[in-house]
Amino acid sequence: MNTAYVGLGSNIQPRETFLTESVQALEDHQQIIVKKKSDIYETLPVGYTKQDNFLNMVVELKTDLSAWELLEYCQSIEKEKGRKREVRWGPRTIDLDILLYNQENIKTEQLFVPHPRMHERAFVLIPLQDVNPDAIIPTQNKSVSAILDELPTTEKKGVARWLGKNGEEG
Ligand code: ATP
Ligand code: MG
Ligand code: MG
Repeated sequence: MNTAYVGLGSNIQPRETFLTESVQALEDHQQIIVKKKSDIYETLPVGYTKQDNFLNMVVELKTDLSAWELLEYCQSIEKEKGRKREVRWGPRTIDLDILLYNQENIKTEQLFVPHPRMHERAFVLIPLQDVNPDAIIPTQNKSVSAILDELPTTEKKGVARWLGKNGEEG
């Protein structure tokens, strides 16, 4: 069995529903076991900043799918949730990114693992730390918690544990 970490993000309502239904869709796959789920965080948009705040989380999976098969399944969930690609890093119903797949380094046109931007993103590292602070990012040769320690506070300030909002999804 392979161990993979998937990062999820949504900034189109209903954000929490998109997250939880996407985790459920991972759980529904016969060849995937969701082992751990992080808390949900509300995060300020990074890259393209004129958009609504995100909800982000990370899950740890066991799977006998290959990394490419897992990517394909993640993309089918995005498609099912009406994901459209208009603006790079723009608003989305749901984004599922493969962060780590075992300790493999994969560099193909379709798939880069470890996710090439994960080590600079507090919205990935903070929820990933919830599920496995000791996970090593092989391209950095460092653990998640060590990388987070070195990340500027300003980056981390944009990520807050989400307590839910009454009626938000109504
Ligand atoms: P970012 O990758 O910076 O988080 P994004 O998630 O918004 O941006 P997408 O539009 O979801 O980008 O994906 C663009 C392409 O990235 C996909 O078609 C996919 O083939 C490719 N890709 C490469 N590596 C990965 C990965 N580790 N996980 C998911 N998609 C990946
Ligand atoms: Mg992404
Ligand atoms: Mg993506």
